[in-house]
Amino acid sequence: MLTLNRLVEERDAEGILEYAREFHGHVCPYLALGIRASLLAMEELGVKRLDYSGSVDESILAIVEVNSCFTDGVQVTTGCTLGNNSLIYLDLGKTALTLVKRSTWEGVRIYADAERLARYYPPGARELFNKVIRERRGTPEERAKLRELWEEAAHRMLHLPREEFKVERVKVPPIEQAPIFDSVRCSKCGELVMETRAVHVDGETFCLRCAGERYLGVVGRGIIELGGME
Ligand SMILES: [Zn+2]
Ligand SMILES: [Zn+2]
Repeated sequence: MLTLNRLVEERDAEGILEYAREFHGHVCPYLALGIRASLLAMEELGVKRLDYSGSVDESILAIVEVNSCFTDGVQVTTGCTLGNNSLIYLDLGKTALTLVKRSTWEGVRIYADAERLARYYPPGARELFNKVIRERRGTPEERAKLRELWEEAAHRMLHLPREEFKVERVKVPPIEQAPIFDSVRCSKCGELVMETRAVHVDGETFCLRCAGERYLGVVGRGIIELGGME
């Protein structure tokens, strides 16, 4: 068995965090929180990390409500990723994960409340975060100190008791499986584009960018409109 699958099977949260460190680039409290929430949801729902058939059939979906560090913890732990279409991103801005079985649409939603979790941070950690990350004005020493405090907070998040989360059984409205579309060629840039994202002007086919149309993109603040004729 591959190492990451084994770590998840053994519920080895520390081991998973080491994988997540490489995937995410750093260790932080919300990365660890994503791992903890995933392990809880998987246990509650009685499902394993996505394997071959799980990922091909999209049998388990992870629905996240935020695109933060938390979401990377979820992807590493559950195996539900943006690329295998088993990660659904809802632009709701909440630290929450719903794990759901496609067979019944029954799921478990785990919500983490930042105010409630404030007491798990080492003293000074959140103030330093505001200075170094939010205001982007930390010295190299402060950046190094934050790294240390974040690591400590992450390890606490990994082992949060279940009672610190809101855990609820939910019924999820069905979400379609990823359809496979044909591609058409843009007559301006010459690139292939999914036919559902092509536009037709005077009998010619264009991609949205060449047509100067707006399109949606996921950026740090959520889903926004991009492009157009600026
Ligand atoms: Zn992070
Ligand atoms: Zn084009």
